[in-house]
Amino acid sequence: GFKMGIVGLPNVGKSTLFNALTKTAAAQAANFPFCTIEPNVGDVAVPDARLDKLAEIAGSKQIIPTRMTFVDIAGLVKGASKGEGLGNQFLANIRECDAIAHVLRCFEDDDITHVEGRVDPVEDANVIETELMLSDLESIEKRLQNLTRKVRGGDKEAVQQVRLLEAAQATLEEGKPARTVEVDADDAKAWKMLQLLTTKPVLYVCNVEEESAGAGNSQSARVAEMAAAQGNSHVVISARIEEEISQLDAEEAEMFLGEMGLEEAGLDRLIRAGYELLHLQTYFTVGPKEARAWTIKEGTSAPQAAGVIHGDFERGFIRAETIGYDDFVGLGGEQAAKEAGKMKAEGKGYIVKDGDVMHFLFNT
Ligand code: GDP
Repeated sequence: GFKMGIVGLPNVGKSTLFNALTKTAAAQAANFPFCTIEPNVGDVAVPDARLDKLAEIAGSKQIIPTRMTFVDIAGLVKGASKGEGLGNQFLANIRECDAIAHVLRCFEDDDITHVEGRVDPVEDANVIETELMLSDLESIEKRLQNLTRKVRGGDKEAVQQVRLLEAAQATLEEGKPARTVEVDADDAKAWKMLQLLTTKPVLYVCNVEEESAGAGNSQSARVAEMAAAQGNSHVVISARIEEEISQLDAEEAEMFLGEMGLEEAGLDRLIRAGYELLHLQTYFTVGPKEARAWTIKEGTSAPQAAGVIHGDFERGFIRAETIGYDDFVGLGGEQAAKEAGKMKAEGKGYIVKDGDVMHFLFNT
């Protein structure tokens, strides 16, 4: 599955947000209750109204959303890369994540201490990014040392790694994150394998006071500008509101949102923004027993998509029968779509589209 690491300075609202994420009715939906893998790791259901619609049409007994993992990575402070705070252990946690959800304090509250003694989310973002850059530099130095012998031995992969690490090093030494390095398509895979912290996509989470949960405030506007300039994304959320919503059932939550003048829970937007940031898509399997959503990367082929369900499906893949979401819903289900000629048989080269309803045929 895909993993988002929640980072941020102390007291910005990370735990509040994490607890809300993992406690909501949605997180505990269907047959996949929120499971505590570790105290700071939670699997969260990805809200998707399409799945409910498909289940309704097909009369599915169970609805099984797809999930995304969130990890609460506390302990990141100024000096973390030098072992301050909880230090390097936490940087290692970030390395394992596909993307970073960076919580920024955009609310004023004199009762809640700010570690830097002022509210300035853009500067806070820089503090954390600097730590990540320093950590990247340190790991690059170590790796370059380890690669010297392999390079002398003529190892081609090692030569490529050294070239990429040196490019990253030069950029980081200029004070720029590794994501600003331009990488050729041929190097893209090796580059990703380096798992540098400052190449991970970032979703800034602006934690604003309750009154600003809808439109944001002047601080979140500054973050929005910064995110756009970096090619990252942002969402505006009130962790306090999300905390309250997480304690309500679905109906109460809807009423509460209405009273607050909000269209949907911030967490739903957050999860979806994470999904988009990672270029993820959903396909569905739908039958009388269950309607289920599955997560794939954009550009995934039909056999790879089948492999998300089970490795055997990918190995023995023969073909896929697919119906586009709009056809399935518009025509009123699988049988009707089939009769209208909208069920297509697709081979190994088929690139799955977001919303496809799929059956896989495979050899065992
Ligand atoms: P963490 O250290 O980043 O995990 O921060 P916490 O989630 O523990 O929050 C630190 C404190 O800030 C707690 O007392 C929260 O109740 C409070 N807090 C979190 N979000 C908000 C908010 O939007 N407004 C206000 N006024 N306080 C908040």
